[in-house]
Amino acid sequence: MTQDIPISSIDFDRSPLPRASLRQEVIVEYAKAMRAGAQFPPILVVAIGDRYYIADGWHRTKAAIEAGYTQIRAEVVQGDEDELYRLALRANIRHGVRRSPEDKRKAVEIALKRWPQKTDAEIAQLCVVEPAYVLSVRRSLQRRGIISRGPMRKLKPGTDVPTDAVGQPIPPEAYEVWSERYRIIDHIDTLRKLIAVLKEEEKTYPKLYAGVVLKAVVSHLQLAMNELILGVPYAVCPVCGGGVISSACNTCFGRGFVNKQTYGRLADHNPLLPRASGPVSATSYSPGQEPADSLPDRYWENDNLGGDSIPDMPSS
Ligand SMILES: [Zn+2]
Repeated sequence: MTQDIPISSIDFDRSPLPRASLRQEVIVEYAKAMRAGAQFPPILVVAIGDRYYIADGWHRTKAAIEAGYTQIRAEVVQGDEDELYRLALRANIRHGVRRSPEDKRKAVEIALKRWPQKTDAEIAQLCVVEPAYVLSVRRSLQRRGIISRGPMRKLKPGTDVPTDAVGQPIPPEAYEVWSERYRIIDHIDTLRKLIAVLKEEEKTYPKLYAGVVLKAVVSHLQLAMNELILGVPYAVCPVCGGGVISSACNTCFGRGFVNKQTYGRLADHNPLLPRASGPVSATSYSPGQEPADSLPDRYWENDNLGGDSIPDMPSS
């Protein structure tokens, strides 16, 4: 049922926010449009008891407050907390402000904290991500003690054995590092966005930046980004097999994985090493899904820096 509800009856503190953060610039823009008389679609709230909880429409509601409104048009659903979380996770995928990698991670974290007992596949469906991505976030939350580890699941061969980008199974000891690679990827995305913004800034506010060599700033950031890209695990280290995580391995520095460049060079010298096939390509990636093992090439490749150090490969 669509009705006007008082904004003061919305419980913001206990409404799930399946995004890393609200975009202030979006709120300002919406508020400006509201003041100018623009009609926005009703927000979606779940009524639990005498309070309303936002399932969809955080930006619109904050904008309405900013524009000075005390009421907001809302689609009101009677439900419970589970329903609220389900709707909130769904709503953020469908429309509105596009999800960033950080948003996706936040959504999966919210779902896992709410329903730690649900399977990776179920959480993946709720958040519209790949199950392997859910597993990686789950491991991260478990490691930090945010959700419990629960009983160890037995891996079925060929189905949920995690594999690296060239299809090699990841040894259990190395999986934690693999599952945390989104941490680096998130930072790469952050830098990439900042670089794009700064490139435009000089055109937008030339006066403001008169004392700054923005090209130099951008170039430093690109170097930093390229350095981080070198840290993205690509394949199980072919030298130590990734099984023994020890600092003895000079190729992977004990982390069990090499980056894409290093792997490529090792594979050039050793035809027995499998090459990336099928899903590991930029073309198979689409923003709506986050295939954990088929990241776009931009996370693995850069053009001006070397990879990890390459030792002589054993010839057999
Ligand atoms: Zn190694």
